[in-house]
Amino acid sequence: MGPTLAVFAAATFTACRHPVVPRPSAVNIVPSQSAPGRPVTIPDEVRPYLNKSGFHWKCNQTPHFLLCYQPGSESERSIKDLEIIAEQDRDTVLQMIGVAEYEPRIYTFLVNSRRQLKKLIGFYGDGRSRPVQHAMFYVIDGPRTLAHEMTHEISTNLWGAAQPWIEEGLAVYTTEFPILDGDIRAYFAAHRLLPLAQLVNPTWESSKFSPDITYTELGSFVKFLDKKYGMKRIQEAWRGGSESIPQVFGKPLSELEQEWLATLTKPVEATHTLIYRN
Ligand SMILES: [Zn+2]
Repeated sequence: MGPTLAVFAAATFTACRHPVVPRPSAVNIVPSQSAPGRPVTIPDEVRPYLNKSGFHWKCNQTPHFLLCYQPGSESERSIKDLEIIAEQDRDTVLQMIGVAEYEPRIYTFLVNSRRQLKKLIGFYGDGRSRPVQHAMFYVIDGPRTLAHEMTHEISTNLWGAAQPWIEEGLAVYTTEFPILDGDIRAYFAAHRLLPLAQLVNPTWESSKFSPDITYTELGSFVKFLDKKYGMKRIQEAWRGGSESIPQVFGKPLSELEQEWLATLTKPVEATHTLIYRN
């Protein structure tokens, strides 16, 4: 167990005359002034992360998140930006996948290094989501988009677990749409794209080939599917897997691949850079 500290939750911003007796907890929670009426309760499945030995957390509450970070970290210095980015990214993801509402609060843990992430959840990498627990984890050194893991969190909880190609394709699309078209054209021009059949199948996973290429490729392919066929069909393919593609889109993968590749020979359309320039 980590150090036990007092919770200030609702007490800090409300009911000054009748202070709430602090409940014991392993974390300081800083309530958002924009969400004073919805105090956070920490679910049992999230508590082990907060209590993990070797970690000390502070958490900020926003309308839809609890953002937990380590005192003195770059995340703490950026936390006001991250509160805004998290809420904006959530709006963007919901809009892009065509969903009006998403109720669950998302418990987000910001750590300083891949080694720390490994220590916290046993995974060495830049980010992870555990949708069943509504928990997301990021290695973070300043303000940046939180959309990738958030897409996994939201789409997996709404539509169920999916094959990795479509999970990652959708997450890259919703996160990197401002730069995706340029990146994919560079790989295309350099003849570095893999045949889609090597990725769009039940067994592909990220360690099989260079993720720099495969993630960009899948993100671009899912973007193409959305623009030409719409998110409803993507949702059907999400549920049916790569095997369902001929039925969902009315043509085999090889034909979709030719349509998609043809779009890459055209100039990049102007896009709004919603995320990267503010
Ligand atoms: Zn991912």
